[in-house]
Amino acid sequence: MSEEEILCSFCGRSKSQTKLLIAGLDAHICDICISQADMILKDDESSKDPSDFAVELKPPKEIKKFLDLHVIGQEDAKKTLSVAVYNHYKRINQKHLQEEIEIQKSNLILVGPTGTGKTLLAQTISKFLNVPIAIVDATVLTEAGYVGEDVESILSKLLQAADFDVDKAQNGIVFIDEIDKIARKSDNPSITRDVSGEGVQQALLKIIEGSIASIPPQGGRKHPQQEFLQVDTKDILFICGGAFNGLEEQIQKRVSDNTIGFNSNIQKLSDEVKESLFKEAKSQDLNKYGLIPEFIGRFPVVAALEELSESELVKVMSETKNSITDQFKYLFKLDNITLEFTDGAFKQIAREAKASASGARALRAIFEEILPVSYTHLTLPTNREV
Ligand code: ADP
Repeated sequence: MSEEEILCSFCGRSKSQTKLLIAGLDAHICDICISQADMILKDDESSKDPSDFAVELKPPKEIKKFLDLHVIGQEDAKKTLSVAVYNHYKRINQKHLQEEIEIQKSNLILVGPTGTGKTLLAQTISKFLNVPIAIVDATVLTEAGYVGEDVESILSKLLQAADFDVDKAQNGIVFIDEIDKIARKSDNPSITRDVSGEGVQQALLKIIEGSIASIPPQGGRKHPQQEFLQVDTKDILFICGGAFNGLEEQIQKRVSDNTIGFNSNIQKLSDEVKESLFKEAKSQDLNKYGLIPEFIGRFPVVAALEELSESELVKVMSETKNSITDQFKYLFKLDNITLEFTDGAFKQIAREAKASASGARALRAIFEEILPVSYTHLTLPTNREV
């Protein structure tokens, strides 16, 4: 067959009528048909329902079982979280059914001391559901236009965690730590703007409630010519965490106000009383603490975490998946050293961690101190029982 006689098998154009004619096994395709096919493909992609990304829903019991593998103690918080997460994703799936009833989001606030597992709970849930998570610190956020990160930077982080898959990000989780640090500074609205406290709460409202935000694909500053990714936040699950130091006094005040004949003077509270009061935390206490009612209104679930006991800290070291002990054993193994821990060593480390004010977070620092991995080939500390 002469060159002129070769035709595109799709449109019949001859080689001279096209810029390019690609040969297949027994057919040819021209550049015009290739671009048309490309357009059809792209059209098909964009006509896909954004809710095509579906999270596989598991019953609360299974969620809790998975949490048990990673998070020690915190029974109440794990149960509350499992149910809230189940309801949240049920709500998203229900929308496919076009039912009339709109279920409210189950955003949560986790209240509890540092190093008790607030961030870990959120991370574990995201792992279980295989949805992306963005972990941010409320203290670095400011109102748009002020020095600091504006609230939309949270969505940039979520997009990054979702490898810029917008559908995935829209079903993801945002964990905002240290939410208690953006409490309103005082009850009296002051003349100076409160850009890092109430102002941030106001700014967060919009994305928590559900809005469509334009996010620059690579993060960073917005440029007028840039193409933005549109992220709809209405199905994103928001979890906030905070230590809320002193909240127990607020709770005690509320409880004692409701109790006739109760001595309402605030006495110095013992740790046990503090803990049992924390469990009673309700939205109204958080309001008194300085979270504005509109903000709290978007967090229908409040769960309290307790300080970990010494025996729970031992379990954190010895029983959790990918525990710090496993990590150190592995690091030593790379140097051909077998690392063993006695029960006494675990107890001693737990005692030291408990004495510090940072709960399970102190464990890593203690491990680093007694087992300096990078110097393993020089000496191993001999003054401790390890
Ligand atoms: P928080 O957010 O409450 O300050 P994190 O969740 O960041 O605390 O905890 C820090 C680390 O301590 C975690 O990565 C985890 O290794 C460990 N940890 C804390 N609480 C628990 C827990 N309840 N069970 C298992 N590990 C925990």
